[in-house]
Amino acid sequence: MHHSKRIDEIIENKRDKFISVSQRIWELAEKSYEETASADLLCRSLEEEGFAVERNVANIPTAFIGSYGSGNPVVAILGEYDALAGLSQEAGIAEQKPVKKNGNGHGCGHNLLGTGALAAAVAVKDYMREHNITGTVRYYGCPAEENGDAKAYMVRDGVFDDVDFSLTWHPAPANAVSAMNALATYQVYFRFKGRSAHAAAAPHLGRSALDAVELMNVGVNYLREHIIPQARIHYAVTNTGGYSPNVVQSDAEVLYLIRAPKVNQVELIYRRLVKIAEGAAHMTETEMELEFDSGTSDLIKNRTIDQVMLNNFHKLGIPEFTEEEIQFAKKIQATLSKDELNNLWHESMKGQILSDTILPLTDEEAFASTDVADVSNVTPTSQAHAVTMANGTSLHTWQVVAQVGSSIGQKGMLHAGKVIASTAVEMIQDENLIQQAKEELTEKFGGESYVSPIPEDVVPPVNRK
Ligand SMILES: [Zn+2]
Repeated sequence: MHHSKRIDEIIENKRDKFISVSQRIWELAEKSYEETASADLLCRSLEEEGFAVERNVANIPTAFIGSYGSGNPVVAILGEYDALAGLSQEAGIAEQKPVKKNGNGHGCGHNLLGTGALAAAVAVKDYMREHNITGTVRYYGCPAEENGDAKAYMVRDGVFDDVDFSLTWHPAPANAVSAMNALATYQVYFRFKGRSAHAAAAPHLGRSALDAVELMNVGVNYLREHIIPQARIHYAVTNTGGYSPNVVQSDAEVLYLIRAPKVNQVELIYRRLVKIAEGAAHMTETEMELEFDSGTSDLIKNRTIDQVMLNNFHKLGIPEFTEEEIQFAKKIQATLSKDELNNLWHESMKGQILSDTILPLTDEEAFASTDVADVSNVTPTSQAHAVTMANGTSLHTWQVVAQVGSSIGQKGMLHAGKVIASTAVEMIQDENLIQQAKEELTEKFGGESYVSPIPEDVVPPVNRK
C-alpha cells in the first residue's frame, strides 16, 4: 500500500475535528499579530494530539511551535491563521453580505491554511508512530503573514536553524505545487513633523507635515519611471494629520511598500525613497523620521521537494466536489468580471469551474510576496495549492471569505493536508532526497549566504497599530 493511502485514512478519520477548527478560526477572523484565540485553539489541538507546544516564539505572543518525536530528520510544517480587515462576509452564499459591518474576514483563506497544516502535522505524527519512524515533526504557528512578516522575524531568531526541510500550502483555485514566485519587500513608515497654526490667521507660522507627505508621494511618482520594471512601489497615507482644513497639520505619516525580485534591488530603491523623503522634509521645513516595519526575501523554489510533492499529489488525486458545490462555485463565478475569469493560474484551466486537474510545475512571473520566502532561504521549502475556491476567484476578496467558510474550502484543506503529510512521510524516510534538496538550495544561493531583510535593531511590530 502506498503511504498516501494510509495518510488519507488518518486525516479522514479526524476530518470533523479539523473542519471544526477551521470554522472556528474563520469565525474569529483575527488580524495580523492579534490572532490570540486562533493561535490558542491550534496550540490546544496540537497538545491534545500529543505535541509539546512552545508559545511566544521569537518574542511574538501568537507565534508557537508544536513538536513531536526526537532527533533528525526535522520537518517543519508551516501554518498561518491571520485574517484581513474589512472583508467580513457570510459563508456559503454568492452575494456580498458582511456578517459584521467593517469586520474582518478570511479573504486569503488562512483559516484553512493553518488547519490544513495542522491536519498534515497530526497525520505525519500518527504515521511515524504506527511505523516506528524516528525523526521530528514540528508545526510552526506563523502569525501575521498579511501584515507583519512574522516568519522573517522567526527566521532571524534562528528557530528554523535545525530544520531539514519545510512544507506548507496556500488555498487556491488550482491544484498545483509551488506555482507562485514571490518578490522581496521592505515596508517602511515615513513620519513628518511640522508645526500647527491657524491656516487663515497665521499660515506663515505653520509648517505642514501633510504637505511633506504629498511632496514625497509626488517625488516617488517621478521615481517610478526610473526603477527596474519588475519593481513595485505602493503606499498608504496612514496619518493625514486630522480632518480640519483650517489647521496646518503638524503630524502626518505615509507607509511605503517596495517590491523587487531581490532584496538588494529593494534596498537600492529604498535608499532613493529615503532621499525623496529627506527632500520633502527640506522643502517644507519639517522633520522626517522613518521606522522600518518589516521585510521579506525572494522565494527560492526547491524542485527536488516540489517533484516529490507533485508525485504524491497525483497518487492522492484531486479533491472531489458534489453537484451542489459545483453549482455554488458557478454562482460565485457569476459575480466575477470577465477579466477576473480570464486571470487564470494556468491556460489549461480556461472554462473550468472547480478545477479538476493538477497543474504541471511551471515558472510563473512573481506577482506577490510572502514571508514563506525567508523560510525557503534557510531550509529547502515546498508549497502545495489545493482547490478551495472557484476558478477565477482572486485572493483578498469577499468571494474567498464566502468559499473558505464552506464545504468547498474544507475539502480542499483536508486534501492539502494529505498532500503535505504524504510528502513529509516520503522525505523523512529518504536521506538521499533530503540531501539532494539541501544541495539544490546551496546551489541556488551560488556561494552567497542568507542575510535577513530586517535590520538587526528592528523588533517584531507586534504592538504597532
Ligand atoms: Zn495568504
